[in-house]
Amino acid sequence: MIATKGYAAQTKDTELALWNFDRREVGPHDVQFDITYCGVCHSDLHQIRGEWGGEIFPMVPGHEIVGRVVAVGNHVTKFKVGDLAGTGCMVDSCRVCANCQDGLEQYCTNGNTLTYNSLEQDQKTPTYGGYSNTIVVHEDFVLHISEKLDLAAAAPLLCAGITTYSPLKHWKVGKGHKLAVLGLGGLGHMGVKFGVALGAEVTVLSTSPNKEADARKLGAHKFIVTSDPTQLKSATGYFDFILDTVSAEHSYNQYLRLLKTNGVHICVGAPPTPAALMAFSLIIGRKSLAGSSIGGIAETQEMLDFCAEHNIVSDIELININDIHQAYERMLKGDVRYRFVIDMATL
Ligand code: NAP
Ligand code: ZN
Ligand code: ZN
Repeated sequence: MIATKGYAAQTKDTELALWNFDRREVGPHDVQFDITYCGVCHSDLHQIRGEWGGEIFPMVPGHEIVGRVVAVGNHVTKFKVGDLAGTGCMVDSCRVCANCQDGLEQYCTNGNTLTYNSLEQDQKTPTYGGYSNTIVVHEDFVLHISEKLDLAAAAPLLCAGITTYSPLKHWKVGKGHKLAVLGLGGLGHMGVKFGVALGAEVTVLSTSPNKEADARKLGAHKFIVTSDPTQLKSATGYFDFILDTVSAEHSYNQYLRLLKTNGVHICVGAPPTPAALMAFSLIIGRKSLAGSSIGGIAETQEMLDFCAEHNIVSDIELININDIHQAYERMLKGDVRYRFVIDMATL
């Protein structure tokens, strides 16, 4: 076994603290990489606080993981020692269901293995995430990261990046489309960058008036403060797509009004509470309320290559691991500019 140091929550009511655990030895198809940076996703907070249900403790969060390869199994062909490597939200899947065969491992019908708070395919062994010094992953679930990109700022691409890239590609959002990004946090700011790169007219819908200058710097063409009824009303029937990244309860009915006929409201934000939806919000204008989960492995590599080509990374605030609780508090207040990334040298 490989002795590993991490930050773990022991229960949903305890704060993260130093925890030593073991990772498996490097198998024939495994890649081991030492973690240099790990992004902080709002999903980490939902899960350590037990907001989604079914949590497995102790929990080492973190699924925006980057570092350098230190060992490879003797059958590994994709990586060699010294390469940059990344892992996102998944570390395995059944590989045989129709979705896995189609490169949609995120929708594995037999149940994929998430990077943490999940079980390996043996249904017994818990997985532990990236708030740790090293990780062992099957090479099929390890991504290549370009040496051209700032490594710390590339970490959030592994979740915030793919989660916003995948739906924009699926719905073919691009030139001629009016895209609203709802919520300017970790996911939202990547949604703005990708929307702009794909040629859409991008509007940020935000509860935070003080984020307007940042939104425009990120490339947004318009900015609407959602708490101002006049501004919101002026956008009625305006958008083809809304990319909803909001982490807390909010009114879908209010935002569906902003869509054109046939418009699509895409949920990627995952509030822990159910929402009240009026059927009329969909009926009038033949609108769709849709959802999307991260992206498959091949698409994640495509996104990383797209980022290398277009020089897209996340706007980050680098933190020491013992500042994680403060970072969570700021995240809860919507005060993330625009992704916290842990410098794992501070572990
Ligand atoms: P984040 O950085 O905290 O950003 C969320 C943003 O939502 C905030 O910055 C804020 O933006 C807005 N917001 C927060 N509370 C709000 C409220 N009560 N009403 C309206 N707006 C509010 O979080 P994140 O890491 O981007 O994650 C966002 C959500 O996506 C989380 O629920 C996370 O679990 C989920 N997620 C889903 C997937 C997937 O595969 N579908 C993947 C990753 C994450 P403004 O200040 O601009 O209003
Ligand atoms: Zn995430
Ligand atoms: Zn499968």
